[in-house]
Amino acid sequence: MYHELPRGASFWRFLLSIDQDLAGTVRQKVCSCGGRLHQADYPRKPRGSGEKLPPEYRYRFSFCCDRDGCRKRVTPPSVRFLGRKVYLAAVVVLVSAMRQGPTPRRVRELSELFGADRRTIARWQLFWREQFPQSPFWKVARGRLLTATVMLLPRTLVDLFLRNEEPCQDWGRLLRFLSPITTTSGLSSEVSG
Ligand SMILES: [Zn+2]
Repeated sequence: MYHELPRGASFWRFLLSIDQDLAGTVRQKVCSCGGRLHQADYPRKPRGSGEKLPPEYRYRFSFCCDRDGCRKRVTPPSVRFLGRKVYLAAVVVLVSAMRQGPTPRRVRELSELFGADRRTIARWQLFWREQFPQSPFWKVARGRLLTATVMLLPRTLVDLFLRNEEPCQDWGRLLRFLSPITTTSGLSSEVSG
């Protein structure tokens, strides 16, 4: 099955609206110390969309406790940014999936399409092969997927979620499903402050 990203700014605005919802849920919470959470976004310069992104893409939403001595960070999951990766999450997923399957797309072709170089794409493949399967998120989430297929990650996920009927909605559901890995606790079992 052949997949691509939905064209046009509306797709990126749609993903932004999901991130705004996810951030809104966190904003209403209080820190475990009882302090209030203030917005303290991380600057970002995302790559790979091939088009002009809404200005909000210069930031990953994040919050910080306002109490001295605590200042704990709370970063909501994201459908736009995959952890600290520079490229947009949708691009990391799509390019990695296109390298898999019966007719993998050539690295050179993907580099020309999305701008990521050979080493970057190789790092993403390593991520899906080694880091992602070990994540606390995946150990729980894979049981929820009612599929007997052998998992080729992320290719199998892309094929499962993208039915090409409503590409925007399908991508939104896939990225929403994966969004726990965009936070430290979903990706690694290490507790970080
Ligand atoms: Zn606090």
